[in-house]
Amino acid sequence: MEQLDCVVIGAGVIGIAVARALAQAGREVLVLEAAAAIGTETSSRNSEVIHAGIYYPQDSLMARLCVAGRRQLIAYCAERQVPFQLCGKLIVATSAAQTEQLPAIRARAEANGVQGLRVLSAGMAREFEPDLVCTAALLSPATGILDSHAYMLALQADAEAAGAMFVFHAPFVAARVVESGFEVEVGGSEPMRIGCGRLINAAGLKACDVAGAITGLAPGHVPRCWYAKGTYFSLEGKSPFQHLIYPVPVAGGLGVHLTLDLGGQARFGPDVQWVDTVEYSVDAGRAAGFYAAVRRYWPELRDGALLPAYCGIRPKLAPKGSPAMDFVIAGPREHGVPGLVNLFGIESPGLTSSMALAELVRELALNAARSDRSA
Ligand SMILES: Cc1cc2nc3c(=O)[nH]c(=O)nc-3n(C[C@H](O)[C@H](O)[C@H](O)COP(=O)(O)OP(=O)(O)OC[C@H]3O[C@@H](n4cnc5c(N)ncnc54)[C@H](O)[C@@H]3O)c2cc1C
Repeated sequence: MEQLDCVVIGAGVIGIAVARALAQAGREVLVLEAAAAIGTETSSRNSEVIHAGIYYPQDSLMARLCVAGRRQLIAYCAERQVPFQLCGKLIVATSAAQTEQLPAIRARAEANGVQGLRVLSAGMAREFEPDLVCTAALLSPATGILDSHAYMLALQADAEAAGAMFVFHAPFVAARVVESGFEVEVGGSEPMRIGCGRLINAAGLKACDVAGAITGLAPGHVPRCWYAKGTYFSLEGKSPFQHLIYPVPVAGGLGVHLTLDLGGQARFGPDVQWVDTVEYSVDAGRAAGFYAAVRRYWPELRDGALLPAYCGIRPKLAPKGSPAMDFVIAGPREHGVPGLVNLFGIESPGLTSSMALAELVRELALNAARSDRSA
């Protein structure tokens, strides 16, 4: 049986960033990806927003990793010529009650280290965006957008340049904790068994299933995952908006917001639909809810202007109606298995956080492996 240092399960943005961090630390890394290519699941089915770190509870992993990760992401994109733009975002209140929430949103963001926020009156907001109808708004100039696929390709190139190997059509099936680390069973058309000292579970929507297939990890350390699907509609024609436009957040998500791609095309989403399976069909019938939500801040939205686009699925660690959960990054200190790091519930802002998150995973994986073969 071939023996490796690190095996990373999943080549979404998180698995690729972790592989890069480990390989650049001099480690031998193999990435197992079930699909035919990198980033075919959640990492290519999101809003592509560089979040500033506004909404997350102070000192949560989401707050810390988003703020630190954003800084690293922007520097990296600039250095590696990954397209991005700090277009800024407006969080818009459309009632007196929502206007009253803006100072608290600002205070939470500032406690997280977000800079440059400004509360705007309705008139000031319209100076930024003449088509906007609101009672007040919070401007976040630190928010932006990026080309997430170009970002993943750059990370993959770095990882491979440092020696990491990516194998596709190579689903993780099961693993067993052994004296030297792990024995990993890989399926696909060329099934194999490999041994490794460190095992990183970055399987996104399937991370709970993957953890459940590790013999030697106590079942109490395998959480349950729920799925919250989010659909997007794109706007026919030119966007009248230059900034990202977000409503004041609602339970379960950030509300149907307007994001832009780097070509200036606008799309609206994601909404929230609790589902049982990973399935990416777009239900055009959900448009009615979008028209209603968007017209609260853009009443001029024309009938027929929303076109079904795509959807993504959030891996949730709590069911519908429960308070939002933080990222769970479970290393040896949590579950007692040296060399194992499980990543659960890596929903938004996972893309923004990816580089900071990868550094944290690298530290957890390297500091307590059972076998330190290549150190
Ligand atoms: C609707 C939506 C909007 C979002 N918007 C934003 C945003 O604007 N900004 C932001 O910062 N974040 C955003 N996010 C969050 C961000 O997209 C995710 O945090 C990030 O993409 C998660 O990456 P990942 O690598 O963990 O998961 P994934 O991209 O899903 O990758 C997991 C990989 O594991 C593979 N895999 C699964 N099982 C196995 C197995 N058994 N063996 C081998 N491989 C396996 C899958 O094929 C997949 O490639 C959004 C998320 C959603 C759902």
